[in-house]
Amino acid sequence: MSSSNTNYVFAPPATVSVGVVGDSARYPVRRIYCVGRNYAEHAREMGHDPDRELPFFFQKNPDNLVLNNQDFPYPTMTSNLHHEIELVVAMGQGGRDIQAANALAHVYGYALGIDLTRRDLQNEAKKTGRPWEIGKAFEHSAPMTDITPATKSGHLSKGAIWLKVNGEVRQQSDLTQLIWNIPEIIAHLSAIFELRAGDMIMTGTPAGVAAVKPGDVMEGFCEGVGTIITKVV
Ligand code: MN
Repeated sequence: MSSSNTNYVFAPPATVSVGVVGDSARYPVRRIYCVGRNYAEHAREMGHDPDRELPFFFQKNPDNLVLNNQDFPYPTMTSNLHHEIELVVAMGQGGRDIQAANALAHVYGYALGIDLTRRDLQNEAKKTGRPWEIGKAFEHSAPMTDITPATKSGHLSKGAIWLKVNGEVRQQSDLTQLIWNIPEIIAHLSAIFELRAGDMIMTGTPAGVAAVKPGDVMEGFCEGVGTIITKVV
């Protein structure tokens, strides 16, 4: 257990945190969950039938998070790095077996993130039945905006979401196109894991995922949350 007089064999890492719009206090991040294939068109482009699957989840590491407007260093071991623009839910209250009907009362706010993916390594993992971490949970793989508290934005269930690369639209959809909406995601996830304040959920990406290369500038937008910009270096 940690306390102020605990000695560690080395200095523990700093708490990962995200800024909050209109507040000097920061949001401390506990876990980052991600939903797979949550827009029908994207599920189809990845070769799956969107009508046949319950939501499924994977995780990134909290320290994979990169704050908005910082450069994104092109990772090692890939030649097919894909962007996935996603609405992010920031939990303000945890629980187990949270019911969809009162799930939104557990949400602190919303951010916009990019689930950067080493698609070649993810595809290899899928083919061989191995875990996805090497494709998904690498350094800097989760650029994120500040969080807009739900008290400001309201709860989000509709609105444009898009991503441009070098000014050209690559992904474009609307939050109404989510297969599993935010209350349903929280209900499913909290049946699998106990959620806590500080848990973030990346809610899945629309169709149009594609590769980026060093020099490209990614600009994403989601109504109610704002803009994310990151340059691949
Ligand atoms: Mn994703």
